[in-house]
Amino acid sequence: MLAIGRGLLASTVVALVLSSQAAPDWKAVEEETLRHYQALLRLDTRNPPGNEHLAADYVKEVLDREGIPAQIVASDPNRSNVIARLKGNGRKKPLLIMGHTDVVTVDPAKWAHPPFGATRDQGYVYGRGAVDDKDNLTAALMTMLLLKRGNVPLDRDVIFVAEAGEEGSTNVGIDFLVKEHFPEVEAEYCLAEGGGVTRKGGQVAFATVQTLEKIPRRIELVAGGVAGHGSVPLKTNPVVHLAGAVARVGDWRPPIRLNETTAAYFKRLADISPPDVAQHYRDVLSSDPAKQRAADDWLFENEPRHSSMLRTSASPNIITGGYRFNVIPSQATATLDVRLLPDEDQDAFLQQVKAVVKDPAVEVRYPVAATRPPGMEARLDSEAFKAIEAAMTRVYDTVTIPAMGTGATDMAQLRGKGVQCFGIGPATDTEDGPKGFGAHSDQERLLESELHRFVRFNWEVVTSLAKAR
Ligand SMILES: [Zn+2]
Repeated sequence: MLAIGRGLLASTVVALVLSSQAAPDWKAVEEETLRHYQALLRLDTRNPPGNEHLAADYVKEVLDREGIPAQIVASDPNRSNVIARLKGNGRKKPLLIMGHTDVVTVDPAKWAHPPFGATRDQGYVYGRGAVDDKDNLTAALMTMLLLKRGNVPLDRDVIFVAEAGEEGSTNVGIDFLVKEHFPEVEAEYCLAEGGGVTRKGGQVAFATVQTLEKIPRRIELVAGGVAGHGSVPLKTNPVVHLAGAVARVGDWRPPIRLNETTAAYFKRLADISPPDVAQHYRDVLSSDPAKQRAADDWLFENEPRHSSMLRTSASPNIITGGYRFNVIPSQATATLDVRLLPDEDQDAFLQQVKAVVKDPAVEVRYPVAATRPPGMEARLDSEAFKAIEAAMTRVYDTVTIPAMGTGATDMAQLRGKGVQCFGIGPATDTEDGPKGFGAHSDQERLLESELHRFVRFNWEVVTSLAKAR
């Protein structure tokens, strides 16, 4: 009797532990998620100046209260980072989940709700950082809390990082972490910002996961000549030489080069697109150069982001030269925003630009060192990508499309060190961007229901990758 009683008790305890691991009480979780999300949005961490210590201290306190070992690390005390770790049994290499604590600046006059108010209105939460990146930050934090509370046994350590300075001052954030604290953040896989689920007309259409990103680099065109009186036009006028060089670069589309991610991207996008658009995506993958060229022309005109994904791109964005209408200047300069394919040979590319400029009076150079290192593509046949895809099906019931980011994120530094990184994000309405509610826009917002769904998605991915089997 007693023995049976004990057996029953033991199995009840086991069942309780298992059920707490398997499924958190999502209703209770939602209240807490919203509380942390709003608290983080209310901290003014606009960069510059950053003041990310506000968010770092908040996050550290939440982790401390939960008994999760966490440390603050900083090169500048006002711009601190948090690293926390839940230990696993070491069967697999760690998984890193991260979110950045800084946000871009705001023009308060453009906001209907205060930018650091975290106002709730008709199902949305408004605030700078709502979708960049306090959503990922909150979801990663909640995942840590749930793992700890559920006592989830882990096959690998789960590392949490809240980093400063993603918006243009990586020296205090990811660069510092990779340089000074790499052993504490080193992982097989990482999850961060950069992807997202696209809704159209309120319905989930597809999800993108960022598995690779282009490398930003600056190229300068510097035209030189002899200064002179404007009443006497000169053949050497640097403004004229520079204008020609800029026009030639502007007309130039570097050759198309696909990689595993972009090939899969266009193929999967074609599968879910209307037939006329799908044909362009298929043609861009075609081995027939004429078909590919026509598709490329169409994308450049209609979907410029897709055109950029096909190649290393160069966009002339700044021109300076001259200071008086009656003086021929001795110098004129243009700056190109170059986004290199991750495996581009950077010196060879500079030579290609020189060949396009084709003017000995115009110097072509990289004026500063690269700020983001090239890194390897996250594998689509990896355990992590498969786990993400499966979770996407379970939580969003949609198809996962791997994507190469045309912009840069902090994942670049980790990829540069061999970590396979995946950019994820919550579901947002495709109609919201043009209305001015997207990342870096004049206002920013996220649906509360999608914040909660994103926490569930994070939980699904992290447990399927890290939970002990
Ligand atoms: Zn961001």
